[in-house]
Amino acid sequence: MSVINILDPHVADLIAAGEVVERPASVIKELLENAFDAGAQNVTVELRGGGATYIRVTDDGCGMAPEDAGVAFLRHATSKLHDERGLEAIGTMGFRGEALAAISAVSHIELRTRRRGDTEGTRVTLTAGEIDEMGAVGCPEGTTMIVRDLFYNTPARLKFLKSDRSEASACVQTALRCALGRPEVSVRLIRDGSEEFFSPGDGRQDSCVYALLGRDLASSLLPCRGEDEGLRVSGFVSSPSAGRGNRGAQYFFCNGRFIKSQLLQAALEQAYKNSLLTGRYPACALYLELSFGSVDVNVHPAKTEVKFSQERKVFDLVYHAALSALQGEDRLAEQPAASAPAPAPQRPAPAKPDFFRSMSAAQYRAAQPAESPPAESFFSGNLSLRAPEMPEQTRLDLSPAPISTRFDEKNQAATGFAPAPGPQIVENSVQNVEKSPVPDHKILGEALKTYILVEVGEQLLLIDKHAAHERMNFDRLKAMDREILSQTLLAPVTLRPDAGDCELLEQNGELLNELGFEIEPFGRGAYILRAVPADILPGDAVPAIEEMLEKLRRGKAPDVQSVKDELLHTVACKAAIKAGWDTSRAELERIVQEVLSGRVKYCPHGRPVSAVLSKKDLEKMFKRIV
Ligand code: ADP
Ligand code: MG
Repeated sequence: MSVINILDPHVADLIAAGEVVERPASVIKELLENAFDAGAQNVTVELRGGGATYIRVTDDGCGMAPEDAGVAFLRHATSKLHDERGLEAIGTMGFRGEALAAISAVSHIELRTRRRGDTEGTRVTLTAGEIDEMGAVGCPEGTTMIVRDLFYNTPARLKFLKSDRSEASACVQTALRCALGRPEVSVRLIRDGSEEFFSPGDGRQDSCVYALLGRDLASSLLPCRGEDEGLRVSGFVSSPSAGRGNRGAQYFFCNGRFIKSQLLQAALEQAYKNSLLTGRYPACALYLELSFGSVDVNVHPAKTEVKFSQERKVFDLVYHAALSALQGEDRLAEQPAASAPAPAPQRPAPAKPDFFRSMSAAQYRAAQPAESPPAESFFSGNLSLRAPEMPEQTRLDLSPAPISTRFDEKNQAATGFAPAPGPQIVENSVQNVEKSPVPDHKILGEALKTYILVEVGEQLLLIDKHAAHERMNFDRLKAMDREILSQTLLAPVTLRPDAGDCELLEQNGELLNELGFEIEPFGRGAYILRAVPADILPGDAVPAIEEMLEKLRRGKAPDVQSVKDELLHTVACKAAIKAGWDTSRAELERIVQEVLSGRVKYCPHGRPVSAVLSKKDLEKMFKRIV
């Protein structure tokens, strides 16, 4: 007896539906993309609850002819692809003709559509993919699709849906990504009767980003642009001081399509290598435009993964564009060598893009709810640096380790673990920036025992010695592949943490040990601190432990590496020369060298370590010029 069956088309549709429609958010994505493909300028998405009971998408696009309205729900029915040649250069969001078939197989659907110029529209209702009713109807030009009771006939799927709250937030996130990818389309999202977001659709990336990502994120973004033989990238990247605890605010688009791409992520993050602490991530809204033929979007039904035919070129383009956006912000990077005839023109401090002023009140209001509360993370609190402490000793020798060689070692090691697309590309790109020579300079002295004054060409550079040294320590400690050296305390210190902190100490004993702390339980909630990292003063040991406990208490670390980095901050900070201390000339010189070489730009928290006053700034200050 034969054991092989040809599946009933309805069962085949249900199986296929599983690939395209995973949750209500997938419906929103497909319907929004259909609206974009229909050339809509305004789209309204409405959802109730988590979206499973009701989703409505209305657009003012081209609409469908009556004869197409019923056919659209058949599998492989598409107006966007005619033959296999079309597959090589897909310029629409959809092309597989699967979405409507898949959605209608697992829901109740009502479609109202009227083609532009037609006198009347068509209404079609379907249950589980079968047409119930079809007829003429009066409706505006464009298309409205209502999807009810998603997964009503696939209980297994229904069971896997999360709470309404999380399904709704996935819907909002998905719609937001789609909207962000298409600044020329105005998208409004209404959830349970109230507006979640609204994008103006004026074709401007800046107003779209502002409206959808909110003022806080938008104000940290720097314009970013690059072009190379038919490849173009534009958009925004965040300034290093606005690093985030996760990659949730990295938005990449390829020809208007939101994509997930390790390649682009690696290119972006590589550009921040010297300015953002490991464990912190840049935010971005980057729009890549390239010929349809040089990217394959047909990798997965959801089409969020793509394959570039020229990965290396794409990587380099994004890397260099992001890097120059950062260097544009960083005035120090523009410093001319002393021999240069004239100072580089000063750029204004990171300017707020002009859209902050051009936002209308409605857009501004619309922007407010769009910023969803940041995910609780280990880094979500403000990690403020302590105020500089006053000297308890007058002199501290820097550790004898030759810092500059350490840096070279470290840079090599770091390029080794660069993510996709592999070390070679990353290494080549990095070499261009890391090897910048130190320009001629003259150390004038120190102001307020805190700021090193350096004359470089026609500019006066002020360096926060603590912040710069903290960064140097952090990089040095992080580059050590063995445990950090510790020093045994002559007089061990007794610690009496609160009960909760005792648990934290014990749970993180191994980590603290790796960082050079030796802590032993002493009974009755007491602990003995026997050794501390060699770089820090014994007097700083207890404050360092307290600070670390505070960080651990805030907890919910995304990963061990991030916790370790955070704790390493504390060690780097405590080991750094402090404001108010006298510092030897040699020490100052070493810091200045690191800063001028461009290797040290931001302290581990992302604060800048230096500021520049040009001759012109000074002349203006003294009214020599106006
Ligand atoms: P695809 O988008 O891959 O072509 P879909 O199943 O999503 O497949 O849609 C099938 C067809 O229905 C589309 O090719 C298009 O012709 C038509 N269609 C769907 N949604 C709309 C819409 N909002 N406006 C106009 N036509 C639409
Ligand atoms: Mg589609």
